[in-house]
Amino acid sequence: MLNNFADQRFLILGAGVTGSAVANSLRSRGGLVTITDDNAQDALRPKTINLANFDAVVISPGWRQDHPLVAQVLSSNLHILNEIDLAWQIRSELAPQQKWLALTGTNGKTTTVEMVAKILQTAGLKAVACGNVGDTVIEAVDRENAYDYLVLELSSFQLHWAKQAQFVSAAILNIADDHLDWHGTFDAYADAKFSILERADIAILNADDEQVVLRANRFTSRKVFFSLDTPAPGEIGVVEELLVDRAFVADPLEAAMICELKDITPTVPHNVSNALAAAALARTVDVSHEHIQKALQEFKPGRHRIETVYESNSVSWINDSKATNPHASSASLMSHLSVVWIAGGLAKGADMSSLVQRCKGRIKAAILIGADRQLIEDALQEHAPDIPRFLVDAPADYARGGDSNSLMEAVVSQAAKLVAPGDTVLMAPACASMDQFISYADRGDRFAAAVRKVVAYE
Ligand code: ADP
Repeated sequence: MLNNFADQRFLILGAGVTGSAVANSLRSRGGLVTITDDNAQDALRPKTINLANFDAVVISPGWRQDHPLVAQVLSSNLHILNEIDLAWQIRSELAPQQKWLALTGTNGKTTTVEMVAKILQTAGLKAVACGNVGDTVIEAVDRENAYDYLVLELSSFQLHWAKQAQFVSAAILNIADDHLDWHGTFDAYADAKFSILERADIAILNADDEQVVLRANRFTSRKVFFSLDTPAPGEIGVVEELLVDRAFVADPLEAAMICELKDITPTVPHNVSNALAAAALARTVDVSHEHIQKALQEFKPGRHRIETVYESNSVSWINDSKATNPHASSASLMSHLSVVWIAGGLAKGADMSSLVQRCKGRIKAAILIGADRQLIEDALQEHAPDIPRFLVDAPADYARGGDSNSLMEAVVSQAAKLVAPGDTVLMAPACASMDQFISYADRGDRFAAAVRKVVAYE
């Protein structure tokens, strides 16, 4: 451990959001910081780095282990650090009373950490969500008038490197194929996610997720399962129209109401699951059921997550651009009955077959775009050949990030021809966006703009 950062020579791998925040924090503590990045203008190129000039290296979460410089660092004797553990060291000096709650999962992380932060704030606690949402963890730790609680959203990349930070409680929301291009195998990805439990006093786990249940056995911390089913003693779950706590109650034979299903927006199964996880995390720090209910009633998820952009003639147009993997897309498809599905982009190594097999009964037609659309087309051809498929190419005037929105306008025009009253047009692409869009937000904004232009003007 490097407790005194002054005059230590740090090499930071990555000039992005995390790397920059770490650099600022270390510099403010007298550290001597050099940043290296393949792409950033004002950073040194990795090839020019001589590791002999440094005392410690901080690896940003996006960097793959097989990057030549990372490989070199791993085989050196240098201290290897990461943002989360550095933040933990700073917290131990600045605000040792500060408690950390954390969660991970393939989907629902941002929504759920925001729910937890809102619940804690509603209870009058000084809390903030951080990590992949809002401030980085190191920035949140460094704030004046320290927070009493940090609610950390942690990705598999961050968890892969973090080894020190300790959590009052940590939740795993779900685990499904994603980022296999980075981790190599599903097991490696799942192991990274599960490492969140290694230093958590209480584990909050999704009993409806086969992979989570399967892998939970080897951990000894106290486990509290949540599910959409009736909870057994010691669990949190759903009874008819109510979310019910049988884990954090004085008598485990009792059940306490947390809130009603209708308090949760949107009231779809996966989001109820997120609310159960959020409630459980809040209960680990003794927030009352009343405060949880009040916060959930007021809570709305962020943009691009099952966001209704237009409704007319009993047709809903929904932007779920944040559904960047098959698991999220599947949750979204299963939340609607008859869907004209807009999908495609970069699949990141994920398999589309189980999504299609699970959801084929909900898909009326599929409109496919992007680099890996053939993967979805093939899965539909194999498992649901009767579902009509429409491949839309980017028109000649369309350029990623450019002024023309002709790609999404073509997609929306195609969808408009297919819908009937009662249908939902759902953009839940199961893929990342960067082949044809700047980001998932750009993709969602362009979809919404195309709906306004093509459909709302009809
Ligand atoms: P993350 O931060 O993990 O990406 P978000 O809350 O931003 O999670 O949601 C990402 C996508 O996953 C959205 O499309 C959302 O509708 C969907 N989603 C949210 N919660 C869940 C869940 N529990 N299971 C499956 N999909 C979910």
